[in-house]
Amino acid sequence: MLERATRGARIVRVELRRPDLRRPFPPDFVSRLTGHTIQSIDRRGKYLLAALSSGETLLVHLGMSGAFRTERPRSSTRRSHPADPHDHVVMALSSGVIVTFNDPRRFGLMDLIRANDQHEALRGMGPEPLAETFDAMVLARACVRKRVALKVLLLDQRLVAGVGNIYASEALHHAGLSPRRRASTVATPAGAPREAAFKLAAGIKAVLRKAVVANARTYESGRFRVYEREGKPCPRTHCTGTIRRITQAGRSTYYCPVCQR
Ligand SMILES: [Zn+2]
Repeated sequence: MLERATRGARIVRVELRRPDLRRPFPPDFVSRLTGHTIQSIDRRGKYLLAALSSGETLLVHLGMSGAFRTERPRSSTRRSHPADPHDHVVMALSSGVIVTFNDPRRFGLMDLIRANDQHEALRGMGPEPLAETFDAMVLARACVRKRVALKVLLLDQRLVAGVGNIYASEALHHAGLSPRRRASTVATPAGAPREAAFKLAAGIKAVLRKAVVANARTYESGRFRVYEREGKPCPRTHCTGTIRRITQAGRSTYYCPVCQR
C-alpha cells in the first residue's frame, strides 16, 4: 500500500515535528531527503528500506507502535481535522500524496544509509518469515543440536528476520509448542524437520501475516493471543489453560502451559 503510493514519486517537502524518535534523526535529514525520488521500497525484518535517487537509502524501523499513513488531500481544501501529536514526520510527494509517520510510543527509528549491508542491524539477517525461502526445512536446519530454549532461538535474527519478542510468544502459541522446549526437538539429529517444525513455520507466518494487516491499519492493542495476557484464559477453543508469564534470556514470554507442549 505504502509502496504503491510512493514509488517513483519525488519528495518535495519534509517536516520533522520533533528532533528524534528512539534516536535523533541523522544530520541534515530534511535536506538529504528533499528533491529526491523514491525508487523502491523493500522490507527486511522489521525494517523498511526506501531507495532514493540520491544513492542513499532511507531506513525505517517501525518500533512497537510506528505506522505510515498516506493521504491525498484535495488541493482546494485544507485538512479540517486537528493535527495528531503523534504525527512526527510528514512528507509531501510530487504525486500529491502526503506520507505521515505516526508513532505514539516513539520506539521507531529513521536513518539514512549508503547500502543495505552498511547498517549493523541488517548484516547477517536470516530469511524473511513471509518469504517462500523460509519454511520448516530452514527452521529445522537452524535448530539442529541447539540446546537453547526454542523461544530464545526464535529471537535470533540470523535464524529468521523480524520475529520480535511479541511474535515469538504468539507464534509458539499458534503452533501449540512450549517456549521452554529445547530448540533441537523440532529437528531430527540429521537436521530434517519434525512435525513441530512444520507447525512452527506455519505459526510464524500466520501471526506475522496478521501483524502486517494490523499495522497497515493502526496499532490495536488487545489483538494478541497470549502476549501481555497473563492470568487470562487461553484463547484456544476447548483449552482450559491460563496464560502464564515467564522470563527467558531476560525477556518476558507468555504461553499456555496446557496446550503448548
Ligand atoms: Zn491453551
